[in-house]
Amino acid sequence: MRNYTTQMDAARKNIITPEMEKVAAKERMTPEEIRAFVAEGKVAICANKNHKCLDPQGVGSMLKTKINVNLGVSRDCKDYDIEMQKVMEAVNMGADAIMDLSSHGNTEPFRKKLTAECPVMIGTVPIYDSVIHYQRDLDTLTAKDFIDVVRLHAENGVDFVTLHCGITRKTIDQIKKHKRKMNIVSRGGSLVFAWMTMTGEENPFYEYYDEILDICQEYDVTISLGDACRPGCLADGSDVCQIEELVRLGELTKRAWEKNVQVMVEGPGHMPMDQIAANMKLQSTICSGAPFYVLGPIVTDIAPGYDHIVSAIGGAIAAQNGAAFLCYVTPAEHLALPNLEDVKQGIMASKIAAHAADIAKGVRGAREIDDKMADARRVLDWEAQWACAMDPETAKKVRDDRKPEHEDTCSMCGKFCAVRSMNKALAGEHIDIL
Ligand code: SF4
Repeated sequence: MRNYTTQMDAARKNIITPEMEKVAAKERMTPEEIRAFVAEGKVAICANKNHKCLDPQGVGSMLKTKINVNLGVSRDCKDYDIEMQKVMEAVNMGADAIMDLSSHGNTEPFRKKLTAECPVMIGTVPIYDSVIHYQRDLDTLTAKDFIDVVRLHAENGVDFVTLHCGITRKTIDQIKKHKRKMNIVSRGGSLVFAWMTMTGEENPFYEYYDEILDICQEYDVTISLGDACRPGCLADGSDVCQIEELVRLGELTKRAWEKNVQVMVEGPGHMPMDQIAANMKLQSTICSGAPFYVLGPIVTDIAPGYDHIVSAIGGAIAAQNGAAFLCYVTPAEHLALPNLEDVKQGIMASKIAAHAADIAKGVRGAREIDDKMADARRVLDWEAQWACAMDPETAKKVRDDRKPEHEDTCSMCGKFCAVRSMNKALAGEHIDIL
């Protein structure tokens, strides 16, 4: 029988949980270091009591940067089997979390399957599910209806929920007054905004925050405080609406921590590169070091079809400057529901961004694999290179497609291979080019 409610509660009672021990081993830290970070709120271990097959991970800026993969059916692409295939592929490729953003049909069996079979953190956005769960129009739903869906997701074993608690009726005036180019681009944020304008009531996720915290405490669900006003284009980056919401998220972070509920804070969004570092610092200060979960950042608006690259650039800068968790972006972003190939491209781009940032910020052991790759390259040991590669299958395929004349080199330079020439020169051997 556990004598604590959440990981944070345990940490504050000086209890080292099995989850903390597993996270410590993965991060090359001591369990005590992890416990102290969880107690402070600087690391979140998103681990719902009902997610029995979870292999726990920690999310925090001093740990390895984690990546999230958004999946889930939509009205236009509604095959749950295909979606499950993508989920398993994503897990195999190294996703640390799957967010189920399903917005069609009966979502509960899929959600339960995820928490029954998937070892990675599972996240959801309960407001997406509210309309389809009740099969009623948005304006007929009550605050209680929304909270009941949060409870359902918690019971289903979801490890973290995105809740757009930070926009309020004041935001309605601000959005009208400040005339953003892209208004609100957060799907959940737009639903909360629409509900408030249609019903005239306050945001239920803000008004009944304490009730929501009680649910999250009961199941140990981490709240991912949604950024409804994240900028949807470069021109809206770091504007009044975004920063005003961030200030409220800082207050809500503290209220959650008072009840030992773990928190992550979501962030931008579209943003010019030169604003990213400042945004990370601002979030860290306002939200007292709570892990920052960024959706991008997208650093230019004009590359649809390549937004996985655009986002990896922003994600690398964000993670280097303190973001703990990157939400992947696929080449289909802004265009369509991603297919399996899009998912793969998105995951690889995010993994590269996360790893590059981990090296730059000195995460323990992050660079070891790069050093091994350099050793393998120096001796032209191709098998050893595959063993170090993030995507060995693709790397091997490219080489095999264009075989070199000399097995030890590659077809890029052939006998002009600098590595080969240097190895031979340093060994005092003759170098044959012609
Ligand atoms: S042939 Fe050129 S690209 Fe290929 S391993 Fe040698 S130096 Fe590198």
